[in-house]
Amino acid sequence: MNRREFLETVAAAAVLPIAGGQAPAGEWGSPVFDLHFHLRPQAAANLAHLDGAGIAKANLLTRGGALDQVKAIDAAAPGRFIWFTSADVTKPDAERTLTQAVKSGAQGFGEMKFHVAADGPELRRMYALAADLRVPILIHFQEVDHTPNEGTWSTGYAKVFESILKAYPNTTFIGHADAFWANVSADYHDEAVYPGGPVARGGVTDRWLADYANLFGDLSAVSGNNALARDPGFSSDFLKRHQDKLLFGSDCSCRDGHGAGYSNPAAPKMTGKCVARETLSQLKRSASPAIMQKIAWGNAHRLLKIPA
Ligand SMILES: [Zn+2]
Ligand SMILES: [Zn+2]
Repeated sequence: MNRREFLETVAAAAVLPIAGGQAPAGEWGSPVFDLHFHLRPQAAANLAHLDGAGIAKANLLTRGGALDQVKAIDAAAPGRFIWFTSADVTKPDAERTLTQAVKSGAQGFGEMKFHVAADGPELRRMYALAADLRVPILIHFQEVDHTPNEGTWSTGYAKVFESILKAYPNTTFIGHADAFWANVSADYHDEAVYPGGPVARGGVTDRWLADYANLFGDLSAVSGNNALARDPGFSSDFLKRHQDKLLFGSDCSCRDGHGAGYSNPAAPKMTGKCVARETLSQLKRSASPAIMQKIAWGNAHRLLKIPA
């Protein structure tokens, strides 16, 4: 799709801005901000997911030159989107590209999903740059392939990331994906993509959210959903304990906000479901209305310094 076609699809997507900046609480009992929403090439497709899932606003995760698309969608649906930027961290111009995007309005780095070590030189440069530019950095941690030769991302999380949290106190880290969420349990040793069953208390993610002011958790994707679904007794305490550090996100690829077209080979039970809806339902069941409001809405606005 070229720029003109994109603009036309934006114009065709008859959407209403959020009147007076007040988002409705709707079916979730709180307005919802989706921290983890990958920009879709067709503008209308972005809005179809938000509207279908009852989501007021979303953070568009982009890579490379997406400024024209972001501007077009923002013009068509004012107040409903902000955006993050990413660039290949193994390339020498990554810092320049990211800096330029932040100067153009990107409000964070993400998602950072590359085949490098979590404490390697490539990501260390990004941690330092995020602190310099005063934007958060959203990282995908994964140690187990979903499919043969898929590869792993930001590796070594459970072993090395505490040293990173200490070394970069002025960087705001947002953790996400399989290894981040599997490590709510102290007995995880990279043996499963989405481990099930009761959580062994004292996992590193749980401890570090408590101990480090610069770490936040993005509850998106099947990984975040699974961490909340596997042990209800754990989840309600966990949400209470970290109510100021957790942010709702979907990372859902369904078409309509109701599950159309969704599949994940590693999680067959999610086929045909909307990850956003599943996790929002889970949160609504497990958290008080006040905590739901923080996780679904308030925390993201505070962290990203955007008006609620
Ligand atoms: Zn991811
Ligand atoms: Zn969905």
